[in-house]
Amino acid sequence: MTASPSQLSLLVGSEIWTGSKRQKDALRAKFGGKCAYCGGDLDKMHADHVKPITRVDRDPWGNQLPMAERKQMHPENNVVSNMMPACIGCNLHKGGYSLEEWRALLGHAASILARDKSLFRAALRFGIISANAAPIKFYFEKIGCAS
Ligand SMILES: [Zn+2]
Repeated sequence: MTASPSQLSLLVGSEIWTGSKRQKDALRAKFGGKCAYCGGDLDKMHADHVKPITRVDRDPWGNQLPMAERKQMHPENNVVSNMMPACIGCNLHKGGYSLEEWRALLGHAASILARDKSLFRAALRFGIISANAAPIKFYFEKIGCAS
């Protein structure tokens, strides 16, 4: 008996992520060599766990969480279906955040910078930069792919 296409996709999706060359090549090709989040070209690719496996010890605003609120690692998320190709900048910035936590942080970026950086406030005053309230939409969402 052979597996149906849907069974095969389940098998592939639950495959443990090992970071093998075969897995990395397939991941890089997932969005045509683009970062799943910003859409930039992937010079060097990081394999991002959409649902993090790492410990989260800060809130979306960068404040250290009390010990009781820190999240534990989730090795069950170390599967192929949970991986996204990411540029180094996106992967390092997303870190252990979930997509929605990261989206919230990015959505507050202008207000955080305006609060913390006088150069940002000056650049806004002089019209060198501008902030907008556009909702954060990741590249894979713009092109209509589910995570
Ligand atoms: Zn990126």
